[in-house]
Amino acid sequence: MKILFEENELEFDHFSGPLFDQKKVSLAVARLDRIHPVISGNKLFKLHYFLEEAFDAEHKTILTFGGPYSNHLAATAHACKITGLRSIGIVRGERPTILSHTLKQCEANGMELHFVSRSAYNDKESPGFILQLQDLFGAFTIVPEGGYHPMGAEGASLIMDKLKEKNASHICTAIGTATTAAGLLLKADKEKIIAVPALKGMADIEERIDWLCGKKSFNDLLIFDGYHFGGYAKKTNELIDFMNDLYNNHRLTTDFVYTAKMMYAVMDKIKTGYFPEGSNIICLHTGGLQGNNSLPASTLVFNS
Ligand SMILES: *Cc1c(COP(=O)(O)O)cnc(C)c1O
Repeated sequence: MKILFEENELEFDHFSGPLFDQKKVSLAVARLDRIHPVISGNKLFKLHYFLEEAFDAEHKTILTFGGPYSNHLAATAHACKITGLRSIGIVRGERPTILSHTLKQCEANGMELHFVSRSAYNDKESPGFILQLQDLFGAFTIVPEGGYHPMGAEGASLIMDKLKEKNASHICTAIGTATTAAGLLLKADKEKIIAVPALKGMADIEERIDWLCGKKSFNDLLIFDGYHFGGYAKKTNELIDFMNDLYNNHRLTTDFVYTAKMMYAVMDKIKTGYFPEGSNIICLHTGGLQGNNSLPASTLVFNS
C-alpha cells in the first residue's frame, strides 16, 4: 500500500520577530497540512493502520462516521479513493437538500454517504447498529469518529518520527478526540507534549489518553485550557483577527476550529513567559483548512 504521508517532505516554518528575541524562545510550525497535496494534516497519520488493515482484507472497505463539516470524513474519502478502497460515511442528521462543501467533496471522492438520525448517531458504537450497517454494506473495517482508537494513536505516533531530529523542548497540538496528542505521548521522551482543547470543558482527557495509550502517559501531558473561544467550532472576532494577524505577520494560514486556537494559546503563553529561555517549540499544523470554507467570504484575508 502506498504510504500517503510520505508524499511530501515535512516542512517547517520558523517564526521570527521581537517577541521571540525578547523571550529567547524559538517557534517552528510543522506543516503537516502540506504533507500530501490534497489531504491535510494529522488525519492521514491516524488513518494509516486502518487503511492498511482494509487494504489487506478481502472487503477492501472502510466505514467511518462524521458530521457535515468533518475533516475526518473528507480525509477518509480521499485517502480511500487513492488507496483503491471503498469508503462509506455515516453522517449525523437528515440528508439536507444542499450538501455541505465537505460532503460534496466526499461524494466526489466516491464516498457512499448514509445519513442517520441524531439518536441513531449517538448510538453508533452499539453492536445492534453495527450489525444493521453490515446488513446494508457488507464487511468493512470500522474507523471510529476522528480515528479515536488505540490504532489511530499508533498511527499518530508516526508524526513523532518526523520530529525527533528537531530536538524540540515542547511539541504543541490541538485536541479534538485527543488521538493525536496520545500518539505524540507514545513516542515522547525529552519532548514535553502540550495540548490545547478545541472544545469547552473537556473533562475526560485523562480517560481518553488512558484508553488510547495506556496509563503511564497522562501525567506527561501539559494542557493549555481556556482557549476554546466559546466551544467546538465557535469563534470570536478576536480569534478571526488573530488568524488574519498570523497570516499578515508570519504568512501562516490556520483553521478556526483547531489550529488557530492552538496557535493563539501558544503565542499567549510565550507572551506571559510560560516557556523557559532556550525553549525550542514546535507547533503542529494539523490541517483542517477546508473547514474555513464554511465562513462568509472575506472573513479571512487568506481564504480567497
Ligand atoms: C481532527 C483535527 C484535530 C484533532 O485531532 P485529534 O486527534 O482528534 O485530537 C486537530 N486539528 C485539526 C486541523 C483537525 O482536523
